[in-house]
Amino acid sequence: MGVKVVFLGTGTADSFERAQSSILFEKNGNTILVDAGNGCLIRLGQLGKRPADINAVLLTHVHLDHSGDLLPLLKARWLSGVEDTLKIFAPTGTKNWMESQLEAFPFLRNKLSYDVVEVRENKFNVYNFNVKSIVTKHSVESRGYIVNGILVTGDTSPFEELYNNDFDVVIHELSLPEGFSQHHTTPDSILRFSRILSEKEVYFTHLYPHTLTLKERIIKRLGFGKVVNDLDSFKF
Ligand SMILES: [Zn+2]
Ligand SMILES: [Zn+2]
Repeated sequence: MGVKVVFLGTGTADSFERAQSSILFEKNGNTILVDAGNGCLIRLGQLGKRPADINAVLLTHVHLDHSGDLLPLLKARWLSGVEDTLKIFAPTGTKNWMESQLEAFPFLRNKLSYDVVEVRENKFNVYNFNVKSIVTKHSVESRGYIVNGILVTGDTSPFEELYNNDFDVVIHELSLPEGFSQHHTTPDSILRFSRILSEKEVYFTHLYPHTLTLKERIIKRLGFGKVVNDLDSFKF
């Protein structure tokens, strides 16, 4: 059986009709998330899933729109009596970041069960998913992940080495329209890689609201890919 992918959150920090970044991967009864942005717990509930069903989280980076529901997920697991440790794979610095969260919420200390593994360019297996982490180009430490042949870029500017990897499907951020740059993907910056990407199955997510209003024009210009909405899904 292949992997089922569900977009739990396709929004950004200023989206009010979409949950923030989170993607669910499911295979043979195992379920992992890439990112846990605000709203993903509600989307999980809409799928009939519970916090206990999540085996691991791969965090692309700790910006709030990618991590806002991580602590609520851990707290919900504690309150519902889940004893399994939640594995969290994340960029360098995330152990300290989690520690600072516990300083802000000291009553949660020793209640939440998680284990942070900091990754750079690593290959690892988690609950039978084959994962490769890749250092990406954002404003903070950030990683992309290839999960069973599906590349999730997280927030990044496009760059050659990212695409020199083995993948057939890509879930790509497309934050900003033309005229913006730095730390994110724009139509101009991704067009330079259209030769590679036009041969892949490309799903665009994480469009800021002003980018979303231009999506038809942008996709027409790019000539590849489609923009996804919360709870869209595909199998691979
Ligand atoms: Zn970010
Ligand atoms: Zn973001």
